[in-house]
Amino acid sequence: MSNARAVLISAGVLIDGTGAPPLRPGAVLIDGDRIRAVGSRVDAPADVTRIDFPDATITPGLIDCHVHLSDGGLADAPVQDRDPSGLRVLRMAEHARRTLAAGFTTVRDLGGRDHLEFALRRAAHEGLIRTPRLILAGKIVSTTTAGASSWRGMYRQADGVNQVVTAIREQVAAGADVIKVMATGAVLAPGHERPSSAQFTREELAAAVETAHGMGRRVAAHAHGIDGIRRAVEAGVDTIEHGTHLHEDAGVAKEMAARGVFLVPTLKALAGIADPEGPGVPDDMRAKAHDRRSDRDRTFRLALEVGLPIAMGTDAATPFNRHGENAEELELMVSLGMSPLPAMAAASGVAARALGRDDIGVLAPGMLVDVVVWNGTPHDDIRALQHAPIAVFVGGERVV
Ligand SMILES: [Zn+2]
Repeated sequence: MSNARAVLISAGVLIDGTGAPPLRPGAVLIDGDRIRAVGSRVDAPADVTRIDFPDATITPGLIDCHVHLSDGGLADAPVQDRDPSGLRVLRMAEHARRTLAAGFTTVRDLGGRDHLEFALRRAAHEGLIRTPRLILAGKIVSTTTAGASSWRGMYRQADGVNQVVTAIREQVAAGADVIKVMATGAVLAPGHERPSSAQFTREELAAAVETAHGMGRRVAAHAHGIDGIRRAVEAGVDTIEHGTHLHEDAGVAKEMAARGVFLVPTLKALAGIADPEGPGVPDDMRAKAHDRRSDRDRTFRLALEVGLPIAMGTDAATPFNRHGENAEELELMVSLGMSPLPAMAAASGVAARALGRDDIGVLAPGMLVDVVVWNGTPHDDIRALQHAPIAVFVGGERVV
């Protein structure tokens, strides 16, 4: 048997993405697009290609569970609303390139613009561009709101059970892998829209979940206020995005833990809006974010306390929250009391489960090849993940 395609990658440290302690040293044997073996030492046939990184750490490709590739971290994104779609799709390709170069091999896009993200994925499949693996929601399904009508092409407004069902079927027909619903108001919406207010009714949310799950699609619910979080959890959604006011009812947090509902905290999003690096964030949005920083922190600590599954997501696209700087979210998670290994699992093994994927996120035999090599030891200093990786292997190829 020839092992022409097989590569043995070894390094000083290997972190497998489950939260387990690091292996020292560590090695991964890859063959085509699958991992064949993982261990401290791996026996490999003599004729495989060998690449050794003695001072580096091997991890799974990182996963960001909440991005918007359509937008790039501008202080006030709607200024680009009238830009031609050709320009938009080129920007998306660049955002995707930066994300992959930062070691993120999978992203879940929870709201694109005009379904251009599906064209982006086709271009990647045709080999025209390289992107992370794209898990796409299409348009965000929302009640009629000020926020939903202020981002051109990003929302599908739907009121009442019939419209919600149709809106979800439209996204799946366009190619959506996951459905995103707005359970509460938003921060990045005109001032009178309150993030603490619930939006969809219980009936609408239940119909959304039944429709999406019936077609094998998971449901991500944007939810800041506790009433909207409670409704979404009771309706059976799979992930709560933001979850800002969850700390107001620990019973809801425990219900999430019991049902296995993931929290995607997006700490970085609120930080960029509340304390922007530069001018231009509208005052009303900034005030809404500023008022919620302590809620965000209390919720994150409660989530750790009750053992909620936490999946990492940045909401990259919001003000000063740039594609390619995704790993800054992990530093914020660690600063709020999460240890580096579970934080890394939140961006690999746990993130994969949040996405319903059992073939990525963990270094183990039989998994798809998503392998990244980093300088330094991120389990000692999580900021090591903020520097570009030395190598990225995806599928059968080394792409960095
Ligand atoms: Zn978002």
